[in-house]
Amino acid sequence: MLGEAPQGWAQCPTWTNGSRTVAEQPEHQVWWETVLKPVKRPTSTLIGASMGRGGADATSATARRSCLVLAPHPDDETLGCGVTIMRRVDAGTPVQVAVVTDGSTYPPHKSAADNIATRDAELRAACKVLGLDDRSVVHLSFPETELHLAGDALVDAVSDLVKSCSPDDVLVTSEADPHSDHAVLGEATRRALAGTSARLCVYPIWQWERPRSWVRTLQGSSRPERICTAGYLERKRRAIDAYVSQLSAAAGGELTDDYGLTPSFIRRFMGPYEVFFPIPGGDLGVSAPSARTGSRLGLWLASLIGASAKGVTS
Ligand SMILES: [Zn+2]
Repeated sequence: MLGEAPQGWAQCPTWTNGSRTVAEQPEHQVWWETVLKPVKRPTSTLIGASMGRGGADATSATARRSCLVLAPHPDDETLGCGVTIMRRVDAGTPVQVAVVTDGSTYPPHKSAADNIATRDAELRAACKVLGLDDRSVVHLSFPETELHLAGDALVDAVSDLVKSCSPDDVLVTSEADPHSDHAVLGEATRRALAGTSARLCVYPIWQWERPRSWVRTLQGSSRPERICTAGYLERKRRAIDAYVSQLSAAAGGELTDDYGLTPSFIRRFMGPYEVFFPIPGGDLGVSAPSARTGSRLGLWLASLIGASAKGVTS
């Protein structure tokens, strides 16, 4: 996940807005982002909730599909896929988690060595809560915030992982995620899966902050799928709580409230569903690609209107 974006943008050069980092944006654009901030978060929350409600229920259909979960940073696997991991583990289904960057840069006031050690310990504690042992958790150790420099080495590393565990599903962050590391990993994974039988599904992280990134995510996807979180949220919250170095003080962690996982951000991942976007091209056993993008957007706009009327629970 790597910190909370808005108030930390000035200190965090890797947050992206389209293809440019926020630090490189013209001053008026940063000002505009600030003005829109109060609108963006509730709008994103509304869209995300409607995606879950309107998605195909894949809770049972996916429980016995083996999966590889690719996380750009320690904590993304738990935020985006925590319940999905638990449901598959409980069904006796093989699950492998791979964290792609080394976690060296965050929190920024600590040394790289300390951050790597702390975040590895937090990852293993969180994954233990999710039901995974140490053998099911691996690191690829690319430098954090520099994934855009990895090039074909990242594609090859993901490809090797897929060959070694032959998963039915690969779960990864989206190319449309506003965070650079997340987007780069999404693209590299799509390239690595070309020609394989694995099904690619992307999960949202920073889409929960940026309305337009939901639309971009949906444009490349088949109908979204939802995994019911009922009965698993207490364990998911315990797994999130393992990331003390990434939690804001208000959420029980070590960071000031300008940074890290805040209570309001965590709530987005504690709703009735986890949402996934299948990327066409693999084995679409659960939901076939249905309508064209324009029709899908119409469906979600209709769903959004319904969400406005009913209120948002996540
Ligand atoms: Zn991340």
